[in-house]
Amino acid sequence: MSLLEVRNLRIEYPSRRGVMAAVKDLSFSIEKGEILGVVGESGAGKSTIGNAIIDLLSPPGRIASGDVYLNGQKISGLTPTEMRKVRGAHIGFIFQDPMTSLNPLFTVERQLVETIEANTELRGAAASERAIELMASVGIPQPEIRIKQYPHQFSGGMRQRVVIAIALAGDPEFIIADEPTTALDVSIQDQILELIKALCKERQVGCMLVTHDMGVVSNVTDRVAVMYRGDLMEIGPTAEVLG
Ligand code: ADP
Ligand code: MG
Repeated sequence: MSLLEVRNLRIEYPSRRGVMAAVKDLSFSIEKGEILGVVGESGAGKSTIGNAIIDLLSPPGRIASGDVYLNGQKISGLTPTEMRKVRGAHIGFIFQDPMTSLNPLFTVERQLVETIEANTELRGAAASERAIELMASVGIPQPEIRIKQYPHQFSGGMRQRVVIAIALAGDPEFIIADEPTTALDVSIQDQILELIKALCKERQVGCMLVTHDMGVVSNVTDRVAVMYRGDLMEIGPTAEVLG
């Protein structure tokens, strides 16, 4: 069995005008350490897939049928409490805008330590030490100093590095990155993508990388899935699909 398996997933947004199927009969899998790119025009259903996997569909979205498995365990249809545990300890996520994942009122240290303590065995000083290691591993210079600061004291690129550190803090096996560099300066987009790629390979973390940038796809992904209006049109090794 693969790390992540999505089977016959159908996701709907009901409305007064009827039911809109944003994703129809979708099946795919992702292996350990593999980066799957998900591409397709705006509205194709890319974000809906990622949000459904972590049970964070925006209302009134719902999984109408199908299942999601992580490490052979069914994670669709869990209770909110069970799902919160999966999100912290097994699946990390990186969204487009770093501020959706960061709390402006708390230091980076507090946010990292809280995530570490909630999802690992580490506590207190050991958790703080781990937090500094994570800051260093995502390429933030002077991590002991920067960790005491608030999100607004970081540049956009550095802030997204903090988000990546938080996504990794629970030691997840799988990461969802939804257009993680769209809000960043073009000059730093590549660095962030290279970082995500290196971390996934190093830690053997599987990744679903949503993007609309074909350059990103060819440089970073192992396989690509092409979505069109809720349908999976094609999936395969990056070189084959791009060719
Ligand atoms: P993508 O990420 O590929 O741009 P989305 O997954 O955001 O696409 O959206 C897929 C489809 O679902 C679009 O037609 C969009 O309008 C619809 N959709 C997304 N979120 C909602 C929502 N909260 N309510 C109703 N429709 C939605
Ligand atoms: Mg989207």
